[in-house]
Formats: sequence, C-alpha cells, structure tokens
Amino acid sequence: MSDTESIAPLEPIAPHGGALVDLMGDPDALATEAANLPKLAISTRELSDLEMLATGALSPLTGFQGEHDYRSVIETMHLESGLAWAIPVVLSVSDEDRHRIGGADSIALADAEGSDPLAVLRVSEVFPRDKVTEAAKVYGTEDGEHPGVKAVYQAGDVCLAGTIEMIRLPAHDNFVEYRLTPAQTRSEFKERGWRTVVGFQTRNPIHRAHEYIQKCALEIVDGLLVHPLVGATKSDDVPPDVRMRCYEALFEGYYPKDRAMVSVFPAAMRYAGPREAIWHAICRKNYGCTHFIVGRDHAGVGSYYGTYEAQELFEEFEPDELGIMPLKFEHSFWCERCEGMASPKTCPHGEAERVSLSGTKVREMLRAGDRPPQEFSRPEVADILIEAMRGH
Ligand SMILES: [Zn+2]
Repeated sequence: MSDTESIAPLEPIAPHGGALVDLMGDPDALATEAANLPKLAISTRELSDLEMLATGALSPLTGFQGEHDYRSVIETMHLESGLAWAIPVVLSVSDEDRHRIGGADSIALADAEGSDPLAVLRVSEVFPRDKVTEAAKVYGTEDGEHPGVKAVYQAGDVCLAGTIEMIRLPAHDNFVEYRLTPAQTRSEFKERGWRTVVGFQTRNPIHRAHEYIQKCALEIVDGLLVHPLVGATKSDDVPPDVRMRCYEALFEGYYPKDRAMVSVFPAAMRYAGPREAIWHAICRKNYGCTHFIVGRDHAGVGSYYGTYEAQELFEEFEPDELGIMPLKFEHSFWCERCEGMASPKTCPHGEAERVSLSGTKVREMLRAGDRPPQEFSRPEVADILIEAMRGH
C-alpha cells in the first residue's frame, strides 16, 4: 500500500441494505393532498417509528411493514428479502379507525394531539396483527405485564402497511440541538475525521461503570456517539430531560470533546432484550456507527432475559449480515485493590474489594439526598439526580 492509500479516508459504513432512505416529499403538494384524505392520529410510539422511517434510521424500510415482512421478521429475524431485521415496525389501527378510513388507498398521518398531517401513507395492505405470536417470538414471553408486550396488546388489532411520504418531521420542543438525523451524524463524523465510531445506546443516567465501558471502546476507535433513547419509556425510568442534564455534566467534566458527542435516538423503547439489541445495532449502523456496545442485559426489563442473552444473539448472525461490530462488555466496577475501574475479566479480587451498589440502593441514597461514592457515580451526575428526585 502506498502512503497516499494508507492515509486516504475509508468509505463510511454503508447503511443497512446499502442506501440511506429519505422519505421527505414535496411538502406543499402533499399538504394539499392530505387535507382531503382520511386522517389517522397515531400513538407516540408509532410517531417515533414514523420519524425514524422518515430520516432513514430504519433503512432500508420505506414505510410500515406488510404481512410478509412482519411474519418473516417474527419467525426468522430477517426481512422477506433476506436482510437481517429483528423487530417488527407496523402501524396498528383500532376497528373504529379502520371503519372510518374504509378502503382509502392513501391516508394522512397526524400526531395524537391532532396536529396538521405529518405524512401521507400509501396503503398497500391491511392485515391482522398476530399479537400473541409476536409477543412470544419477539419478546420471548406472552406475559401482559412485560411493558413491551403490554404495548403490543394495547395497540389496534389490524395493521396498515405501505410506503410513507413525509410532509414534515414531528415537531419537538426539547433536545432540539441534539436531534441529528442519520445523514447529519454521518456528516458530523466525516467532519471530525472519524472513520470508526462506537455507538452507545442508553435509557439511563451514566455512572462510572458505563463511562468505563465507553472509554474502553473509545480506546480502539476514533469516536464515541452516546446515543440516548428519548422516545417512550416506562414511567419509572429516569425522564429524558434529567438524563440529558447528566450527560451534559459528564461530557463537560470527563469526555474529550473532539472524540465524543451526544445526539438523541428518537426510538420508543420495546424492552425486547436480545432482539432489540440487534435492532439497536442495525439502527446505529444507519447513523454511521461502525461499532456498537452491547452490555449486560441490553434492552432488558425485569428477569425476562438472561444477562448475556443479547450478546449471544449476535452470534446467530454472520458478521456481514449486521455489518456493525458488536463490542461485548461485562459489568464493571471500581476495585479498591486494583485502584481503578475493572471487570471480572481484568480484576482477580473478590466482592469485598469492589464498590458495587444495586440500582435499588442507589435510588434510596439519591432519594435521601446522599451522593453514592465517587467510585460509583461522578458527583456532578449524583447532584443532578438528587435535585431531580427532590422535585418529585
Ligand atoms: Zn481488583
């Protein structure tokens, strides 16, 4: 290899399926058309999916999935085309809405607050949602107490499939400067000269354990994208605005600004554990990440999934099927003897030497206004969480 070749920039990672989807249409023409179409108000969760479809975060999907893809994803974790895909992306409607819409071949989609139409759906198919099979296969349980399964059960019984033409993206009044589309994160990475980027999914404040994992990953790549999910989560998760203040404090004090950035991931949380980990990785590939951190119990909830089940599921795919490299981490902690952050992989010492606190214990301390030890949580982060809990 010549010198010129070795310093020439590599091509950025290809989006899933090869091309980044962009569903933005002609806003004026579509708005005029939409004014005369039956209107459907969609749920917050579906609104998140719509935004992800629109911007190409769900490339190669160009709309809500039809029955063949839906069945194929549920049964085989692949689209009908053979491309890997782990979570169905469908639009459910109630019987009442279905009758109101009738046999319309185009409908206008709006948010639940009755906004002006956001998109036009070209309806190609109407099919029944097989909720119990979907729950069992995708979530590994039919238990209606599981928050993801509960959302499936509460959705309408019939799905409308078809391609989307966007009039405009859903409006947001929070995290505006952090709402980068896949095209925008890709261009940001390019500008920063990052050829390899690791993505970190989170729906929690970041304590020392996750900071350590991110920084271990960053040691081997050019850049880090902390990509908090800000779509719907369960009500006892820490609200996204509080989390965002924690990330900002952490970045301010402890992260190199030319090597790390925060942007938000508009998806709603499914809590589908292993399957969602695969899906999260594919989405981050679309955002331009080459590597993806998979920790313990990724996207899990309660005791529905084994600790390393998400990591293991990656083994069921050929590496080129996903195209993004999973980086698997064990749980980490501060070890008094090692005098540093470590994991069972790197530290030979026993529990007694390790600073580890349960989630319940941490919440108890924060609620009482006590900072957890600084080996567990950065004081700036602890203070934000204490302050937030005081407000409740
Ligand atoms: Zn140790």
